[in-house]
Amino acid sequence: MTTEMPTIMGTDLRTPQAAEAADAARRQSGEPSGLRPRPAPEGMKRLFVKTWGCQMNVYDSGRMADVLAPLGYAPAETAEGADMVILNTCHIREKAAEKLFSELGRLRAAKQAKEAAGGRMVLAVAGCVAQAEGAEITARAPYVDIVLGPQGYHRLPEMVARATRAAGAVIETDFPAEQKFDHLPEASAPQGPIAFLTIQEGCDKFCSFCVVPYTRGAEYSRPAAAVIAEARRLVAQGAREIALLGQNVNAWHGEGTDGATWNLARLLHALAEIPDLARLRYTTSHPRDMDEALIAAHGAIPQLMPFLHLPVQSGSDRVLRAMNRGHTADAFRRIADRLRAARADLALSSDFIAGHPGETAQDHAATLKLIEEIGFAQAFSFKYSPRPGTPAATAPLQVPEAEKDRRLHEIQSLLRDQQERFNRSREGIRCDILVTGLGRHPGQVAARSPWLQPVHAEAPAALIGQVVACEITEAHPNSLAARILGGAAGDHPREEKAAA
Ligand code: SAM
Ligand code: SF4
Repeated sequence: MTTEMPTIMGTDLRTPQAAEAADAARRQSGEPSGLRPRPAPEGMKRLFVKTWGCQMNVYDSGRMADVLAPLGYAPAETAEGADMVILNTCHIREKAAEKLFSELGRLRAAKQAKEAAGGRMVLAVAGCVAQAEGAEITARAPYVDIVLGPQGYHRLPEMVARATRAAGAVIETDFPAEQKFDHLPEASAPQGPIAFLTIQEGCDKFCSFCVVPYTRGAEYSRPAAAVIAEARRLVAQGAREIALLGQNVNAWHGEGTDGATWNLARLLHALAEIPDLARLRYTTSHPRDMDEALIAAHGAIPQLMPFLHLPVQSGSDRVLRAMNRGHTADAFRRIADRLRAARADLALSSDFIAGHPGETAQDHAATLKLIEEIGFAQAFSFKYSPRPGTPAATAPLQVPEAEKDRRLHEIQSLLRDQQERFNRSREGIRCDILVTGLGRHPGQVAARSPWLQPVHAEAPAALIGQVVACEITEAHPNSLAARILGGAAGDHPREEKAAA
């Protein structure tokens, strides 16, 4: 459980322990993540991308690197001496703009040093802060060359060309009519055993507290054929698990390969037919879009992992109404029941906001009650922070900071207990795990459980990329230890308790 956004680095979603530990520290510090740093090959231009925010931003950073690869840019390890630096920003968290400007201040010196040595560093600000702040960025930091919103990444090559030729910044924050996905090249760098695939962007729901509809624009779903083709490529590159991404991923509905309109459940069934794709997940979902077909898919598709991140935000109907969420606390309870009826071992995760404007002590108690009743395997909880331009930011009855802190603390200690209890309930269970990389200690591998926990086990590196059967031997607050079992994956029924 964390108080920050799931800030995730590289190709990993809270999986190998090393990445997890580094990432947890980064989340605590609010530090951003870099882009799969590799030394730039001789003769290539060096590109450094720094990413703040969720996995969708990490995915976008990868696609920006892909779009710039034909121009001769290869990922670099540091900003110092780079030919191009992209800051891919996130506007969800508090003080996002301040963090950006302090990073820009540091980069200014690196850019000047490069110029003093006769070189050129193209400095770009991308992502949701770029979208929200636009020309304000170049007004405050005139040395920035490019400002581009999340829908304009396919225009990067043209913008880089314009920036290197012209004096003054190139700004692109209008949502272009054509969709960026149609213009992006195929992803080049393999993501590893776990891969991410953006299938949906934007949001039309306008929750009172959230900037996403303003920065990411209207809901857009990629056609099924494009998603399936990208999934096949990822599997050919070694992915065994694919996480489908979207701000409202379960609102996905797109043209199916048969010409009919498909929903997410139908898409998941089609993806499950890809040979060698062992595991599927999707995130982030909205309770309003959790339809019957999708709930049933959790019982019907063995590749769909028994874990769902389904943000509820509050347990009080009054607050949910003020948030414009469009669902009640009971509607969420019913969804949780139906999901668990479809798949008994399904673990739930959620997001909570403490201290939304107008939230009373009674409303807060209703949130604690909902958490107690549902029982979460993990969750993210945030102190409400006003985002300029959103209705909640100017709503009356803002909750005092100290009270927000107190409520957040209560929510978090309950969620922490539940997470620890859930992890302990895995001890002695036999299940399949996906081996994702080397572990922290010699002879160890890092893996991921069906319920998204990082797992470590003594095993040879040759198992990386394989789904293997294991017995969970020990639970830790944020991870599990396991013993690899002989035999093939799937030999053991899911969630089978080992004989005492
Ligand atoms: N689309 C998802 C949904 O509707 O649940 C959530 C996406 S949002 C990018 C991720 C989480 O950030 C939200 O679920 C919410 O808990 C949190 N969040 C967004 N705006 C916030 C704010 N102004 N203050 C505190 N937390 C916020
Ligand atoms: Fe933000 Fe609400 Fe849209 Fe989620 S559903 S992205 S919280 S506006």
